[in-house]
Amino acid sequence: MNQCCDIAIIGSGEAGIFAAYELVREHPALRVTVLEQGADIYSRTCPIVQGKVDHCIQCKSCGTMCGFGGAGAFSDGKFNFTTAFGGWLTDYMDSAEVMELIRYVDSVNVRFGATTELFSTTSPEAKALEREALKYDLHLLQAQCKHLGTENNLRILANIYEHLKERVDFHFHTAVEQIQAKPEGGYRLICDKGEFDCTYLIAAPGRSGAEWFANQCKGLDIPLINNQVDIGVRVELPAIVFKHITDVVYESKLIYRTKRYGDQVRTFCMNPYGHVVAENVEGINTVNGHSYSDPALRSENTNFALLVSNRFTSPFNEPYRYGKHIASLSNMLSGGVLVQRFGDLVGGRRSNDHRMSKSFVQPTLKAAVPGDLSLSLPKRHLDNIIEMIYALDKLAPGTANYDTLLYGAEVKFYSGRISLTRELETPLPGFFAIGDGAGTTRGLAQAGASGIKAARVILNRLDG
Ligand SMILES: Cc1cc2nc3c(=O)[nH]c(=O)nc-3n(C[C@H](O)[C@H](O)[C@H](O)COP(=O)(O)OP(=O)(O)OC[C@H]3O[C@@H](n4cnc5c(N)ncnc54)[C@H](O)[C@@H]3O)c2cc1C
Repeated sequence: MNQCCDIAIIGSGEAGIFAAYELVREHPALRVTVLEQGADIYSRTCPIVQGKVDHCIQCKSCGTMCGFGGAGAFSDGKFNFTTAFGGWLTDYMDSAEVMELIRYVDSVNVRFGATTELFSTTSPEAKALEREALKYDLHLLQAQCKHLGTENNLRILANIYEHLKERVDFHFHTAVEQIQAKPEGGYRLICDKGEFDCTYLIAAPGRSGAEWFANQCKGLDIPLINNQVDIGVRVELPAIVFKHITDVVYESKLIYRTKRYGDQVRTFCMNPYGHVVAENVEGINTVNGHSYSDPALRSENTNFALLVSNRFTSPFNEPYRYGKHIASLSNMLSGGVLVQRFGDLVGGRRSNDHRMSKSFVQPTLKAAVPGDLSLSLPKRHLDNIIEMIYALDKLAPGTANYDTLLYGAEVKFYSGRISLTRELETPLPGFFAIGDGAGTTRGLAQAGASGIKAARVILNRLDG
């Protein structure tokens, strides 16, 4: 027999968790069910991290990306107080409302153990840095930021889980395969472990579930708006090269428009003293990075992404597939993540084990295979990235050193954006879509904020 609930939430990443939290906080009697294809926060594992294998074996559900806490669980938890990046929620509500939601998400995190320490953006040093960057046509976007730290992030999530598991019906290792709109109203979710009926549905499938979700939306005649894909590399260099920047603004974004193509390139996800990590998105290995707040766990390197944004025009409307295709070329050449020294790249040589052994910068991602990025990234992307590295070298001399490491490919997949109302509701009544999987956010703060927003809309309707 089908299981019934008032509200079903697909996915227990940041967006799904905060939606569930707000719903039961206001209405403890509501029957809220969360369906999650991954494991609970204590059981998430990756065979590479456990040392069982040295390359991605493409687990059915990736323990790094899926499970309670979603893609952000093992992130270093940079929580940005801004609407300037991290999502597009201001397309749906005004900026003041988004900021109120973000601050509320932060207050919940603090309740469950997050730090209250903020990195400010208004210091004279930060302003001086902004001015200095402008000399080289680099535009510094700044935000107030909290650094939760990977280990604290996990502890906060575990505390939230302990709180929620008494109030919410969690089903882990339960993948939703199909969403059906019932003729009499409400929704049916066909899962690999049975069927669930609900009055309201909140879909929060994140990037890992984005392709599946887009297909479900197509089947339900919910229009998809085209979205962008960001493709690039992860840069790793001695932390001292960027120290004068990362000491002043923890989470900065430097944006540059290349002279050659007029394309926008930006830095993203800066990890001082961090580690480069491999990430699996639906069977494709891409690269990412994180850093720990505990000094004992730090490396000597800083890493950050350099991304080139592409928006496609009609008739092509599958940027997601395009990004996956490019990442799969790096996978094909290296069996996983590829790494190359900047000097080898501009010199037209592949990096190999011998050359890497002479490098002054040693990769923190040991599993990366030395190779040639020019065989996997489109020329336009490579030219843009090289031009940006030379621009950054003026602000942070040493960035364009021979031994600066470039890992590929880093791809930021944004889900085809779902057509939504200002209340984050799809054209189907009572069916909400939130977080990265709906194409509306791309960071912890806005993902959590979108969950609170959907919950509040439902609560208003229940109260009304
Ligand atoms: C390595 C890494 C580092 C990051 N660092 C930061 C950072 O420092 N700061 C920041 O702001 N952001 C960071 N991000 C981004 C941030 O993690 C995401 O923006 C955020 O997690 C999005 O939340 P979400 O709930 O929308 O999706 P997710 O967190 O991806 O959660 C979606 C959940 O839905 C589940 N799911 C998907 N499909 C189904 C299905 N069919 N059935 C059942 N369950 C399903 C998935 O298993 C997953 O657990 C990072 C991301 C990564 C990968």
